[in-house]
Amino acid sequence: MTIQTLPTLTMPPRRELAGYPVAIIGAGPVGLAAAAELAERGVDFIVLEAGDTAGAAVTSWGHTRLFSPWEFLIAPAAGRLLDAAGWESPDAKRMPYGSDLVDAYLVPLAATPELAPHIRYGTTVTDVTRRGMDRTRSTNRSSTPFLLRTTSAGQTSEILARAVIDTSGTYSTPNGLIASGLTPVHAAEVAANVTHALPDVLGADRARFAGKHTLVVGAGHSAANTLLKLAALVREEPGTTISWVIRGSSPVRVYGSSADDLEGRRQLGSTTHDLVRSGTVALIDQFEIDDLTPADGGRVTTHGRRAGTVTAIDADTVVNATGFRPNIDMLREIRLSLDDIVEAPAALAPLVDPNLHSCGTVPPHGVVELSHPEPDFYIAGMKSYGRAPTFLLATGYEQVRSIADELAGNRAAARLVQLVLPETGVCSTDETGSSCCVTAPARTKSSVGTDSSCCS
Ligand SMILES: Cc1cc2nc3c(=O)[nH]c(=O)nc-3n(C[C@H](O)[C@H](O)[C@H](O)COP(=O)(O)OP(=O)(O)OC[C@H]3O[C@@H](n4cnc5c(N)ncnc54)[C@H](O)[C@@H]3O)c2cc1C
Repeated sequence: MTIQTLPTLTMPPRRELAGYPVAIIGAGPVGLAAAAELAERGVDFIVLEAGDTAGAAVTSWGHTRLFSPWEFLIAPAAGRLLDAAGWESPDAKRMPYGSDLVDAYLVPLAATPELAPHIRYGTTVTDVTRRGMDRTRSTNRSSTPFLLRTTSAGQTSEILARAVIDTSGTYSTPNGLIASGLTPVHAAEVAANVTHALPDVLGADRARFAGKHTLVVGAGHSAANTLLKLAALVREEPGTTISWVIRGSSPVRVYGSSADDLEGRRQLGSTTHDLVRSGTVALIDQFEIDDLTPADGGRVTTHGRRAGTVTAIDADTVVNATGFRPNIDMLREIRLSLDDIVEAPAALAPLVDPNLHSCGTVPPHGVVELSHPEPDFYIAGMKSYGRAPTFLLATGYEQVRSIADELAGNRAAARLVQLVLPETGVCSTDETGSSCCVTAPARTKSSVGTDSSCCS
């Protein structure tokens, strides 16, 4: 990623708001990158994090290896703060586990003197609005501070802010398991049989899967990660069996392309393909799930239609790897412009919509694409992609660099967005919604980044 510094066209914050900080929701990789960018520009900020440490969401999948090496995972401004604190940077070419990302990068970053005093842990933002103004009030709206309602240790508080950057991710709001997007009718009765994406199959959750039949649902990299770990268990624990349910006719988005620049992602795809070819994983394609019900022996039956034919599959456990969606409930009083389909900011959505780009080519984007009708309010990071599964941290880092320049009044720099991402081998989508990978046409890296974690 290259960031060019332009002669700055600076605009001070609105006078009425000058005494308030910028509020950042979430101390994940992108929230902390936003904090580092604001710290460098001397803009006051506060980070509100629901978890007890930085990177709380990443910690939940800490046993999973990233497919990006370190060189793509460290935000430029964060790297500068860490270097100044005498940090020993990790090997740029190595791919860390999620736990390494937290321990070796996010926790030290959050502990730097520039960030630490500004972060409040154990603080969940439940609502965002303007002080004394619901979304219908317009007069003096842009000069009225934001009000963030939070809960911390059972106490409710309110914080005022001059601007808000919502980098709260999507990890705590998974998509529905059934095809309609709703909670299964019998969800409560089968709750013990269903897990969140990315269970720790070879570690803490091993007993749950060893010698059992697991049904993995979803066609993204989270599903692939779980399939690989279950396949390792098949070799070690007799009787372990794996089925993989997808909605489309082929998991090409997971299999990926030999043109993928990221070796980790390429290997994840090709190994998953090998597991299906060898029969270790039974792929059940074109399957629309309608409901789940309890079955004999503490098992669960998944009911649905395979290519239109009513089908039922029994298993011990179902892994919901169907992806994530943004929590927009807490933004009810904010004037948002979100795309009807993917729930990403309207100008960004066409660039990331999986119906158009299964492994998308994503032009660099920043404050312009991330703006809403609500002045000084931004959604960035994983949450900015809404329901689209394709997101890379490098994208988020450039988003918040651009937003920080805007909030610091450097409007020209905010609008100069540049991003160079590794190529995936581009995936395209046919009209039926099933996707196929084709080799990427030559692209000018300075103008087009290819952005895909496909990690639903
Ligand atoms: C298994 C997996 C592997 C991935 N591998 C890669 C990879 O190799 N390369 C890559 O570039 N990307 C990868 N990604 C995608 C993406 O980069 C990560 O999901 C990344 O964690 C997104 O960062 P974020 O800061 O936007 O959100 P998150 O990491 O989700 O952070 C959000 C933070 O906000 C907090 N929070 C949530 N709600 C609230 C609230 N209401 N109030 C206060 N705090 C709140 C959470 O506790 C969390 O700390 C991967 C994702 C997954 C799931």
